[in-house]
Amino acid sequence: MISKKCPICGRSVDLPDDVLPGEVVDHDCGVSLEVILNNGEILLKPLEISEDWGE
Ligand SMILES: [Zn+2]
Repeated sequence: MISKKCPICGRSVDLPDDVLPGEVVDHDCGVSLEVILNNGEILLKPLEISEDWGE
């Protein structure tokens, strides 16, 4: 398990060890985070939230 910090709420995000760049994970705070790889380090980038995001 890889532990990262959510860039939005600052709480921890647990990722599987075999997570791949481009995968999108949903965090408890409601944001969707895209996994990106930067110089071998895994980073989380919030996805753009579209206008018709509501249910
Ligand atoms: Zn969060």
